[in-house]
This record gives sequence, C-alpha cells and structure tokens, in this order.
Amino acid sequence: MSLKQLTVVGGGLVGAAIAYGAARRGVSVRVLDQGDTAFRASRGNFGLVWLSSKGGGMPEYARWTRNAVQQWEGFHQDLLKLTGVNSGLVQKGGFWLGFSDGEVQKRADLLAKIDREAGGVPFQMMDNAELRQYLPDIGPKVVGGSWGAHDGTANPLMLLRALHAGLKMAGADLVTGVDVTQIDHDAANGRFTARSRDGQSWTSNRIVIAAGLGNVDLVDQVGILAPMVKTRGQVLITERLRPFMDYPTNKARQTSEGTVQIGSTSEDVGFDDGTTVDKIGGLARRAVETFPALANVRMVRAWGALRPLSPDGYPIYQESTSCPGAFVVICHSGVTLSAIHANVLGPWMGGLTDAPAEVAKFESKRFLDKNARFTSDH
Ligand SMILES: Cc1cc2nc3c(=O)[nH]c(=O)nc-3n(C[C@H](O)[C@H](O)[C@H](O)COP(=O)(O)OP(=O)(O)OC[C@H]3O[C@@H](n4cnc5c(N)ncnc54)[C@H](O)[C@@H]3O)c2cc1C
Repeated sequence: MSLKQLTVVGGGLVGAAIAYGAARRGVSVRVLDQGDTAFRASRGNFGLVWLSSKGGGMPEYARWTRNAVQQWEGFHQDLLKLTGVNSGLVQKGGFWLGFSDGEVQKRADLLAKIDREAGGVPFQMMDNAELRQYLPDIGPKVVGGSWGAHDGTANPLMLLRALHAGLKMAGADLVTGVDVTQIDHDAANGRFTARSRDGQSWTSNRIVIAAGLGNVDLVDQVGILAPMVKTRGQVLITERLRPFMDYPTNKARQTSEGTVQIGSTSEDVGFDDGTTVDKIGGLARRAVETFPALANVRMVRAWGALRPLSPDGYPIYQESTSCPGAFVVICHSGVTLSAIHANVLGPWMGGLTDAPAEVAKFESKRFLDKNARFTSDH
C-alpha cells in the first residue's frame, strides 16, 4: 500500500477529480461524501468546458483554464479507457452571442485584453451573417458574437459517474452518506482524523476539504482562511429536438440526447436552490430571441442549483500553514477545470509533487484585506 494516504471530504466534481488524480498515481485515497442531503452544484450545472472570457481580472486564471481545457481530451480518454464511462466531451469550439453593438464591443475588448495578458486565448468576432454559417437558426436580434476554438461541453453527470467509477478502479475507497463534522489534527504524528455525525472516523496523513458549500463548517478546524459566497443558477430544459445547434453557446446548448439546455441565471438568494417563474420566463424569452424556432417547443424541466464561489470568483487552492497536509479547494467551473484538478492538484495534494508554481496566485491571502471589495467573475 502507498505510504501516502489521502482523505478527500466531498465527492462532487472537484473532490472526485482531485481524488482520482491522486489515486491514479498510486496514492491511497478515501473519499467521504455526504450524498443526497447536500447542496451539489455538480449535479445541477450547465456542462460547459469553457475558456473564453475566463480570467478577465486575473491572467493567471486564464492561463490555468487554458491549460485545463487543453488537458481535457487526454483526461477524458483516460477515464473512458479505464471505466468505459463516456464523459461526453465535445470540444470543437463554442459561441458567445450578443444582442447589441455595445455588448458585442465590450466582449471584443474583454477577449482582446485576456489574450494580450494571458497569451494563447484566441478568439474571433463575427456578425450575424458570419454566425449563421455555424448556427443557421439564430434570429435577427443576435447582432454578433465571439467564437472560441477551445470551448466545448461535457455531460456533467456522466463525468461524475466516470470519476466515481475511476476512483474505484484505481483502488480508492468511496464512502457515501457520511456527514463530516469534525477534523482533528495530531501534529506530533502528522495525522488527520475526519469524524462524521454518526460517530465514524477515518485517519490519514493528508486531507483535502472539497465539500462545496459544506467547506464553511470545516476549513476553520484546520486553520485555513477560505471565505465563500454562493449564487443560484436556474436552468431550463426543452423536449428532445432534431439536431440543429452544432455548437454550444452562452445562452443555450443542445445535448447529445436532443434536449436544449437553456441558462443560466446568477442570483444572490442565500441557500434557496428553487426555481422562480420570472427567471425561468426570462431565460425562455432570451432563448427564443436567440433561436426563434424554440418558441414552438415544450419545456420539460427546470431546476436551480447553488454555485460555491470565492468572493472574487477565482479558485482558492490553499494548504494550511498551521496544519500542513490539509488543503482546501473552492472553485467555480468544476467541469472546465476537472482535468487540471486531476492532473496537477491530485498529485500535489496527494503528496507526490511540490506545490505547483501556478497555484501561488490562488492562495486565500488575497482576501486578508478587510477593506477590499470583490465581485465574483465566473
Ligand atoms: C447552474 C450552474 C451552472 C454551472 N455551469 C457550469 C459550467 O457550465 N461549467 C463549469 O465548469 N462549471 C459550471 N458550474 C459550476 C460547477 O457546477 C461547480 O464548480 C462544481 O460542481 C463544484 O463542485 P464541488 O465538488 O466543489 O461542489 P459540489 O458539487 O457542491 O459537491 C460538494 C460535495 O461535497 C459533499 N459534502 C458537502 N458537505 C459535506 C460534509 N460535511 N461531509 C461530507 N461530504 C460533504 C456533498 O455531498 C457534495 O457531493 C455551474 C454551476 C451551477 C450551479
């Protein structure tokens, strides 16, 4: 058995990807997951694997995301080969669509700034006629848009299933239905003990707290500063339609099953993960303005889910200084970043590599200034 023992609290897309990356490289891994009672963004998201516009206020994040999307194909193939589960990656580019010249210009300026500062984040602006060559069904209200060659989609539920299957195949222990409430640190022996509400306990020499919104109750116990905010995203699904949308867009995407996924909102509503008629109506109207043919289709499902975020929207990847061997991860874009979480964070948090140079920018000390004001950019 490996001398490195890693416990990961949280089996969502973030915890499972890190755990998978560590287990695949020989670390002895255990994942503890609360299950159905938890808020789980990984089961309610939009499924984009998306680079365009990421990192407008932090070029390091644009580079991190660029590296992540470049690693996705290999990561997807590795999971598929190991487990037979297809995470549904389609990475042939994607579009952002705008309704006004001002909006389109703002987008062009943002993408140019990101490409200039981060490098290697190419894009192309198009008018309605050019867009129609790729998306023939867009309506006249779409005045223009941007194209990102690295953008794509995955099936987030299949990705999660693939990661859980991959964890088992790689010898990891996946314990579900446990609510971790306490983490004890034995500094003399460099051991952590995670304890659950029902009295069970698990010991290891490294621990990752990747419990999404559940992080808030755990990070203080290992001396890590990790402030969090949350936004609700509402999503709407149509009945299955003939394939008509060859590329994903920021407003809607067609899944391989034929449904069109429309979304998503970003609302500050506390822990309410419900749906509201006004927001769902707004999403539907915007989708019909984008693709007029959607006016005649039936909507079959809507849901709300909460995004776990840091206050500035960029990730927090942090090792504790008072309890070395304990880490926290908070991030938006758990689908987009899953390959790099597995390939880079997994080996680091599993004790196989030193802290990767790129993660220095994502330490939580940027939130130490009590007077600083942040807006979450995801
Ligand atoms: C509407 C919406 C659209 C989105 N669209 C995209 C997108 O297109 N692309 C993209 O990349 N990202 C997207 N995201 C973000 C993405 O879903 C999240 O970044 C990702 O799911 C976060 O994963 P997580 O594992 O950190 O959290 P979660 O999925 O919330 O998982 C946390 C896990 O921790 C467990 N847990 C919690 N507390 C405890 C505890 N005390 N003990 C044990 N286990 C615990 C829970 O059971 C859960 O399984 C979207 C999110 C939303 C809401």
